[in-house]
Amino acid sequence: MVNCLCKLGLETKGKEFAMELSTLRKMAEAAAKERRHTILWDKPFAEGIRQYQTGACHCGAEVQIVTRPMPNEIDIGGSAIAMNCPVRTW
Ligand SMILES: [Zn+2]
Repeated sequence: MVNCLCKLGLETKGKEFAMELSTLRKMAEAAAKERRHTILWDKPFAEGIRQYQTGACHCGAEVQIVTRPMPNEIDIGGSAIAMNCPVRTW
């Protein structure tokens, strides 16, 4: 069981550089795939210098990514990262 993003090499908090949305999306997708989810992404949107994108698996699990997360936020989060997909699709 891997519950911590740092074990997947996805711990990015505290780093000085801001990750590109496309990089975050690849990492989120890889983490979700580990849990057998297939993520369908919504259109990204921006708010100031921050960019957001959300996605969801057909099982209902979701994933959210945000560039330049606030100190109390994480750049990659959601139930698709935290829980296994209940529907095996492959
Ligand atoms: Zn799923």
